Amino acid sequence: MIPGRPSKYNGVLSMRMYDIIEKKKNGEQLTPDEISFFVRGYTDGTIPDYQASALCMAICFRGMTDGEIYVLTDCMMHSGQTVDLSSLGDLSVDKHSTGGVGDKTTLIVAPIAASLGAKVSKMSGRGLGHTGGTVDKLSSIPGFKTSLSEEEFLEQVNRVGIAVIGQTADLTPADKKLYALRDVTATVDSIPLIASSVMCKKLAVGSRSVVLDVKVGSGAFLKTPEEAEKLARCMVGIGKNSGRRMAALITDMDEPLGDNVGNVLEVKEAVSVLRDGKEGNLKKVCVALASQMVSLSLGIPLCQAEIKVRDAVSSGLAYEKMKDWIAAQGGDVSYIEDTSKLASAKYQVPVLSEKEGFILSTDALKVGTAAALLGAGRISKETAIDYSAGIVLAKQTGDYVKKGDVLCTLHTSDESRIAQAREMFLSSVSFGDEKPAEKPLIYKSIT
Ligand code: URA
Repeated sequence: MIPGRPSKYNGVLSMRMYDIIEKKKNGEQLTPDEISFFVRGYTDGTIPDYQASALCMAICFRGMTDGEIYVLTDCMMHSGQTVDLSSLGDLSVDKHSTGGVGDKTTLIVAPIAASLGAKVSKMSGRGLGHTGGTVDKLSSIPGFKTSLSEEEFLEQVNRVGIAVIGQTADLTPADKKLYALRDVTATVDSIPLIASSVMCKKLAVGSRSVVLDVKVGSGAFLKTPEEAEKLARCMVGIGKNSGRRMAALITDMDEPLGDNVGNVLEVKEAVSVLRDGKEGNLKKVCVALASQMVSLSLGIPLCQAEIKVRDAVSSGLAYEKMKDWIAAQGGDVSYIEDTSKLASAKYQVPVLSEKEGFILSTDALKVGTAAALLGAGRISKETAIDYSAGIVLAKQTGDYVKKGDVLCTLHTSDESRIAQAREMFLSSVSFGDEKPAEKPLIYKSIT
């Protein structure tokens, strides 16, 4: 671990936070010193939450120039320690999703890329609200440790090819504090704030290559492909400016990804893609992401990477790597070999359709909220989650459904949660007389 060093930008002590807020409120550009003053002061507690939230809100309305975003990212990256992965050479690769519903891609793409020689080093977040977090999914496997020392992290990446840890207090503390504040002050969905938050973590972990999955749609923070493209280009620019190899895919999050939403349920689905060859949208997105990871880290053309990725899945190589990774991080692999041993919910209640017709859409935000209501997600930062809770979809958009057909099964350990989750789920599905046109799953790839 490299100890936290101040960013090259230095806040001037005589500055006043009030003036910085006022300046951004008026749409002016902040100087590097002003941005540094804010990040340092907020991290060490000398700037209070109310002033930090006022500045975040001003940034939401007024935006930031690319130059301001680069400085903000740099200051947040240097607010704590950083990890030196230079010993891994060009092979180190990281992947980040901006967050969605049913997004278990890390559990699938990390073993695929590692089975082909990439060194996947990743810091992942916990879920909040309607979105799930990789750390929670991994924690649902008995024994799995999401916290490793730097030595253990590097040793595991070198030996096994993958290590995934939770966000620590030592790395990017400014982001940890600011993200929690944004989450409760309606200031998450700002391109400069998302870009700096994601990229400070990617740069602090230090992988040579980074693949970003920028989600767009009802279940994502950004709702239109145009906004998502702006965010993707901004993050790719920050990474390239710091000498990283970058790629970003813009992928759909109007609908949940795959059939299962909820921690154990998503682990099961990830296993079924790698072990049983389950096809569908989830696998398509994973193949696209893993191909970018392999292409960047091994330095081979994308089309060649995709052939290798498909082979790694069909040959079972990636499934074996998944088990090696889980065992290396303390997880009990017998739960992967026999996923029926994983925690299962006491109540598993089918939801029957009250209508007939084609499913026009299944709103990801509402499905994510229904899963959170069942206990799969956190309503506040402190909420304990029920790993077995969630939703298994029985029908997808475009399917024809008759009255009484099963639309999904709700899983929960708390019977009192079922009625509200059922209402929320039913409101997520819209019906029509004609089969809807197929929507793109991957809108764009930016390299
Ligand atoms: N993910 C992050 O890490 N930060 C954001 O601001 C949004 C999504």
